[in-house]
Amino acid sequence: MTLEIDVLTLFPGMLAGPLDESIPGRAIARGLVTVRVRDLREWGIGRHRSVDDAPYGGGAGMVLRPEPVGDALDALRRPGSTAVLMDPAGEPLRQSIARELAGLEHLILLCPRYEGVDERVRSLVDRELSIGDYVLSGGELAALVVIDAVIRLVPGAIEEASTVEESFSQGLLEYPQYTRPAVYRGMGVPDVLTSGDHGAVARWRHAEALRRTLRRRPDLLEVRQLTPDERRVVDAERAAIDGERSGDHVGRSADEGAGRRSGVDPA
Ligand code: SAM
Repeated sequence: MTLEIDVLTLFPGMLAGPLDESIPGRAIARGLVTVRVRDLREWGIGRHRSVDDAPYGGGAGMVLRPEPVGDALDALRRPGSTAVLMDPAGEPLRQSIARELAGLEHLILLCPRYEGVDERVRSLVDRELSIGDYVLSGGELAALVVIDAVIRLVPGAIEEASTVEESFSQGLLEYPQYTRPAVYRGMGVPDVLTSGDHGAVARWRHAEALRRTLRRRPDLLEVRQLTPDERRVVDAERAAIDGERSGDHVGRSADEGAGRRSGVDPA
């Protein structure tokens, strides 16, 4: 099954470049995903194909009218379609949502501009997504973020192992990665990674993922059921963090600079 994505925008030219390159470009070229970029003005009102108007009640800027959006959605929708409004007030995009969207048949991404859309448009879509707590000039870049996050999860787009171990896939940030040279500007590579012991490498990586997540995104660990082994790693790292705060610093994880020393195995 090919995932089909329709993007509704007033600036179709903004989408072309990123969709031609790298993983999205290859997935589209191989027919794993189809992306159609549709100019919302096709459904504009009157001779001037107008799509916006001043806000009722006054105020700065223009608001996207509901009729062009409603007509466009009516034209594009089919059974199994999911229409998504890109909006700063939407649900924050997460890896789990990207995974959900990657399993759909047909996605319609609506990209408003100006001050946003007429409130009544919210009742015409299936969900609303935000890509973060900041305001972009329009929904196009947000839609591209969604498309990129989704496409790499479509089966066949990239090696499946890459998407299983990466950040957020298992509720953790990814472990530190190293490649050649073995020493760079005095910074080494943890011995375990060159030991050839695959079990030890896997254990080290999992422990580092836990440590990094504790240090950088403790909120992710709050919702994770830790196994006894994971609990031991997290408790030890928490003690190390407490020690650092009180000045009693015992270096352990790659996150706090083990990589800067040659041959450190923090596992
Ligand atoms: N007046 C709106 C507000 O304060 O929430 C902001 C409108 S913004 C200038 C124009 C459009 O950009 C929005 O309607 C939305 O489609 C898109 N946009 C801006 N920031 C976004 C974000 N963080 N996530 C998703 N879409 C965003």
